[in-house]
Amino acid sequence: AAKEAGRGRFETFATWLGERSRRLVTIEAELRQALARGELSLHWQPKVDIATWQMRGVEALLRWNHPELGAISPGEFVPVAEKSGLIGDMGAWVLKEACRVARDQLPDLLVSVNVSPLQLMREDFLADVEAAFAETGLSPSRIEMEITESVFMDDAATALRNLHALKRLGVQIALDDFGTGYSAFQYLRRFPFDTLKIDRAFVRELLTHHDARAIVRTIVALANTLGMRTVAEGVEEPAQLEVLRQAGCSEIQGFLAARPLPLERLLALMSNWNEDNRPEPGAMPETQ
Ligand code: C2E
Ligand code: MG
Ligand code: MG
Ligand code: MG
Repeated sequence: AAKEAGRGRFETFATWLGERSRRLVTIEAELRQALARGELSLHWQPKVDIATWQMRGVEALLRWNHPELGAISPGEFVPVAEKSGLIGDMGAWVLKEACRVARDQLPDLLVSVNVSPLQLMREDFLADVEAAFAETGLSPSRIEMEITESVFMDDAATALRNLHALKRLGVQIALDDFGTGYSAFQYLRRFPFDTLKIDRAFVRELLTHHDARAIVRTIVALANTLGMRTVAEGVEEPAQLEVLRQAGCSEIQGFLAARPLPLERLLALMSNWNEDNRPEPGAMPETQ
């Protein structure tokens, strides 16, 4: 009976695996068309100054709405794009779209885009970046690129060369999901990041785990010493905001302040931001 149960489990697993790989094959094939069909779009999530509750910047987050499959998350399709090489064209589209929106609709905000390590390593990456700024006329200082620690994993020399080239252009560079990769501190010595984004994993446990709180305080102190801004990801509760404020963190991003929104809804939120969203001292807003 145990053997049969085991086989049953295996068949269930094999079925799951089969469905999984069929979905990935479909996604890869459909992703090639998605750009041309206009199925990709950007949502925008504010970054808010903890001390003043001013909106300082927004992060562009890629969305894919497939006519039959519905909404597919970037967590699922970005790895497929990386594996198939589509990440180059997709990333170039994201950057150009972000530059256009930054120029026309968000003149006072720093606009952040995510750059995949595999995208950064591509031969045509810097040419695509220069083309985006040339074609839109946007100053590179209006854009911040968010890159994860894994960028240093296989070809650190090329990664560093391209990061320095971006910096020379005037682009700001953020280290995304900080604290989740390997030997993170070493990377801080290799490249002068402008911003450090504290991973949501630490923020999530801020109120329940002393070690998470200690790690966040240490990260913020280190960033401040090295002259970097700090942005805490995934802040959902007023009490988390208070701990981050006490730790000296500069900005938060998370559902507490705002979810990622389509552009029109971001603009609406911005137009009454001061009236509706600024928290009273001691009375932080409830989760939206
Ligand atoms: P990320 O860059 O770390 O983005 C933060 C993710 O956390 C986003 O998920 C965002 O919607 C989510 N988030 C923000 N605030 C909260 C919160 O308070 N609570 C919770 N539970 N989640 C929150 P999303 O949009 O699904 O993106 C996932 C990842 O996909 C991103 O992580 C980024 O690594 C990647 N990604 C998104 N857009 C792009 C893109 O244009 N290019 C590339 N290469 N990667 C992208
Ligand atoms: Mg990011
Ligand atoms: Mg992140
Ligand atoms: Mg993250």
